[in-house]
Amino acid sequence: MTQHMNVESFNLDHTKVKAPFIRVADVKHLPQGDTLTKYDVRFCQPNVNHLDMKAVHSVEHSFAECVRNHSDSVIDFGPMGCQTGFYLIMVGEPDVPRIADLVEQTFRDILALDAVPAANVVQCGWGANHSLQGAKDAVSTMLRHRAEWEQVMA
Ligand SMILES: [Zn+2]
Repeated sequence: MTQHMNVESFNLDHTKVKAPFIRVADVKHLPQGDTLTKYDVRFCQPNVNHLDMKAVHSVEHSFAECVRNHSDSVIDFGPMGCQTGFYLIMVGEPDVPRIADLVEQTFRDILALDAVPAANVVQCGWGANHSLQGAKDAVSTMLRHRAEWEQVMA
């Protein structure tokens, strides 16, 4: 690999991974004794596939809203600019199997939605740029590969 980079994922060889997967990208022990953990929730094989932007946006909204029905420890869920996955940030340091269960429950909620949460001009910065079907297709594909989520490298 090239020189060490500041950003953890810049040190990950994206040609060696096998999506979909969930991995711990970072653990931060804060000065007051709290811990935050950042998970890489990867939907698409890097540099091979990606989600279209409407699907990314609608997965972001839907997951962010639904996951909080199952956990009070969610700090953030946000898309990667490469459109191949998302970062989930949690309080504490739950292991990947627990996070995989949380992600699975949340995906099942998304499949049951009638509309993308907050997809309007009052609650979102680009309320028209959404696709509920795109989000459902993306999470359906993820769920079909549920058994593979804990294997990161090819
Ligand atoms: Zn939005």
